[in-house]
Amino acid sequence: MEIKNTEKKTFNSFDKNHFINTNYIRPSKFKELESISQLENNLINVGSNLSYSPLSFAKKSISLELSDFNRVLDFNLKDKEITVEAGMNLAEFLNFTLKHNLWIPQIPGYPFITLGGAVATNAHGKSCALDGTIKNSIKSMRIFHKKNGWINLSKDENRDIFDLTIGGIGLTGTIVDITFKLKDIKNTNFITKKNRVSSLEECIQILKNKSRNNNSFIYSWNMATSVSNLGNGIVFENLVSDEVEYQEISLPEKRKKNYFNPYLSFWNKLSISAANQVFLKLNNLNKKEKKEKFLNVIFPFYGKENYFNFFGKKGFLETQLLLPENSIDDFLKEFKYLFKRHQPTITLLSFKNMSGQQKYFRFEDDMICMTLDFTNNKNNHTFMSELDKLCIKYQILPSIIKDSRLDRSTFEKCYQDLKKFKEKINEYDPNRIYKSETSERLGL
Ligand SMILES: Cc1cc2nc3c(=O)[nH]c(=O)nc-3n(C[C@H](O)[C@H](O)[C@H](O)COP(=O)(O)OP(=O)(O)OC[C@H]3O[C@@H](n4cnc5c(N)ncnc54)[C@H](O)[C@@H]3O)c2cc1C
Repeated sequence: MEIKNTEKKTFNSFDKNHFINTNYIRPSKFKELESISQLENNLINVGSNLSYSPLSFAKKSISLELSDFNRVLDFNLKDKEITVEAGMNLAEFLNFTLKHNLWIPQIPGYPFITLGGAVATNAHGKSCALDGTIKNSIKSMRIFHKKNGWINLSKDENRDIFDLTIGGIGLTGTIVDITFKLKDIKNTNFITKKNRVSSLEECIQILKNKSRNNNSFIYSWNMATSVSNLGNGIVFENLVSDEVEYQEISLPEKRKKNYFNPYLSFWNKLSISAANQVFLKLNNLNKKEKKEKFLNVIFPFYGKENYFNFFGKKGFLETQLLLPENSIDDFLKEFKYLFKRHQPTITLLSFKNMSGQQKYFRFEDDMICMTLDFTNNKNNHTFMSELDKLCIKYQILPSIIKDSRLDRSTFEKCYQDLKKFKEKINEYDPNRIYKSETSERLGL
């Protein structure tokens, strides 16, 4: 069989902090995947390359793109199970399952993210307080590894590798197909309720009270443009609507090439403050409760890509942190002190509740999840380095999927369970064939 040649391609992390010109190939048949994998020394898988961190490319690895593997292989309506290829994106997946009033609730926030990418990062969606991460919807998988060949993975078959692969950032080989356990969804409209909050403490209190009692998705939007308005904002609550009949929807399956095209740098303290004021005013004017469509609720950044484009060519910085509840008050005190001292330029501050049991370096636990976006400048880097120290002090878990500047020392001090991952993966693959910029930087 003739094997395609690799191409040169410049990949960038979604936050635009890493650009690497490297080799890339898109196999379209299993045989091709096998032969390419045999030929190359180092590999890494790439889904849609929508990760904020450089997870799917590295200088010395060939990036294997699976976008031609996007078929539904099996669907069992009675048992509510579906087997799909890993290159399928979320919109393609949901367009199929929603027709049957079924879905998986752990849907990360952009429609062109692939299922392989979501599984390899153990992604979560807005429902993470109720449904945890995508791990909870996976029944089994099939992967291909250059040395170990084709392997079936589930709780009953190769359990250890199954566990290493979920959230394993593609280091165990190529996920080729996945069987998901589906859940019912009554319809595709949501009711969104709003609660005004005036401080970080009030926001956390409302999240804690609401998240585990209700059958709804709870998250906040908070201002962080000055010391006086820090935390002022809204807690949103999305409930699947009972009132309307199910309406068939069709999500956009193909990405327009120019969605993410940073032409000018617009975000600065003044513009962020103005945008925040407008957002808050509009929300104050709107009804406290409104009907919203599936696309707006589940994929909040779809159609709002300019939020990212407005960071310009320098890109942005994001950190997502899991905060242990017992030290959250102390953390917030120190966070406010640092905020006052450094006055970082923050474009987004948000909280939600997360659930799960932490293992390896997966981003999940019964903790509060805090997300912060910054403009990319020296002062904000300094502020983030100070936050790293707080992460170590309070055993906070920083997401390696979101923060592309995280260093190995902070990472190793925060994730206590890391040693076990390294032992197991080195045993499974002593040559450590699959590598990305992130896995190399973090010493994984
Ligand atoms: C606008 C936006 C919103 C987001 N919202 C959320 C959110 O709400 N929750 C959340 O958890 N995340 C969120 N993310 C992050 C996103 O879910 C992850 O970064 C996801 O991995 C991106 O999928 P991808 O298909 O682009 O994969 P890539 O970025 O290409 O790859 C990600 C990782 O998966 C591995 N991988 C990809 N395909 C395979 C495969 N077939 N086999 C083995 N490994 C594979 C890669 O090697 C890499 O390590 C968001 C990202 C964006 C851009």
